[in-house]
Amino acid sequence: MDDTVRQHKYLLTEDQMPTTWYNLAADLPTPMPPPLHPGRMDPVGPEDLAPLFPMELIMQEVSTDRYIEIPGGVLDVYRHWRPSPLFRAHALERALGTPARIYYKYEGVSPAGSHKPNTSVPQAYYNAKEGTKKLTTETGAGQWGTALAYACALYDMECEVWQVGASYDAKPYRRLMMETFGATLHRSPSDLTEIGRKLAQDPANWSGSLGMAISEAVEVAAQDPNTRYALGSVLNHVLLHQTVIGEEALLQMEMAGDTPTMIVGCTGGGSNFAGLSFPFMREKLAGRINPQIMAVEPASCPTLTRGVYAYDFGDTAGMTPLMKMHTLGHDFVPDPIHAGGLRYHGMAPMISHVYELGLLDAVSVPQTECFSAALQFARTEGIVPAPEPTHAIAIAIREALKAKETGEETVILTALCGHGHFDLAAYENYLSGAMVDEDVTDERFAESLSHLPVVPA
Ligand SMILES: *Cc1c(COP(=O)(O)O)cnc(C)c1O
Repeated sequence: MDDTVRQHKYLLTEDQMPTTWYNLAADLPTPMPPPLHPGRMDPVGPEDLAPLFPMELIMQEVSTDRYIEIPGGVLDVYRHWRPSPLFRAHALERALGTPARIYYKYEGVSPAGSHKPNTSVPQAYYNAKEGTKKLTTETGAGQWGTALAYACALYDMECEVWQVGASYDAKPYRRLMMETFGATLHRSPSDLTEIGRKLAQDPANWSGSLGMAISEAVEVAAQDPNTRYALGSVLNHVLLHQTVIGEEALLQMEMAGDTPTMIVGCTGGGSNFAGLSFPFMREKLAGRINPQIMAVEPASCPTLTRGVYAYDFGDTAGMTPLMKMHTLGHDFVPDPIHAGGLRYHGMAPMISHVYELGLLDAVSVPQTECFSAALQFARTEGIVPAPEPTHAIAIAIREALKAKETGEETVILTALCGHGHFDLAAYENYLSGAMVDEDVTDERFAESLSHLPVVPA
């Protein structure tokens, strides 16, 4: 037995919790292209977004202030699980026999078991303050729906959730958790909305998609002045709220006396990745550190690595503003891979923009490599990861093994953005040997990419 005493965990006190969110828009070398109105095709103004979002969030969406104060009421709720721990993965390192040092920031300690409450709480807070009675939303694997259901319960608002059909069928316990928090759930596409009824006519849409579920939730919110809509990723204000992860991690890496040479995170819409990496990107842009920043996406929904950078709708039906982003086309229906949270056709416009500027790299991984990495992680670090962050773990392991060959000093920091306690059916699928990797051909993307909206130059 090895009786070496090591430090595994870096904890901050509540006093060290960040009191501001960091807005990367303030430090971008070039500004982002504006979102466009879906009908007029000109830049949207705050009044265009007012039926869907409270004014405080709209202002955050377009803000170029570097720091935005976190309201006291939100900090108070954050304190239920924040600051979250940063771990050094000594046991995983030893199993890999690598000289690389691996750190992970764990967001599974939140009430929903993921990073999502970092934004659901402020979103519900601002809505409640502006008199919203009900929030509608979509959810994939159910993490976002759970986080919003919890936040709505705190502020006494109704919560109505459209869940992607394939995930609704595969993850009954997630649904029950949302219902426990008081939310109403629907399988999407549903017969409760005009767009849902239309989509359901085509059997190919049976498994649903985040784009379809968004259309349904937006349709319902747009028709009722007391109802607004909440999005769990992609938008600037969502990425902003998640930066508490990276601000804490900066302090914790300092406690550890270490500096990351590489930051890796999984990207669905990009919010946990932005949350961890943007504060480090601020330091990188200021010339204080120089980590490689790497986004990891599933091989079956490779938005950054195989999508195009173009204006596209955020939803299937074309009801949302057009955003310039990396996209596979708004009517792309990805294979029902196990990492439901990564099955989105687009990527956050801010992530897409910095990717175009060359400030980050992207790579895709097949799901069997992810689950193999997940088992190695669970059997050393004792945490069963959600299927989404296993993508980042797989790349962390690849890099750690590379460091063993090259001897190059490698310090990896990753976001373990959620636990997988509700995703054990995916683990069963892998453990039984049934999981396969889909080879996605360019032809599959060609169809949906041919439906991109045409915008005036
Ligand atoms: C929602 C979710 C994701 C994907 O969303 P991002 O905005 O890319 O972070 C990834 N991991 C977990 C655990 C999630 O709940």
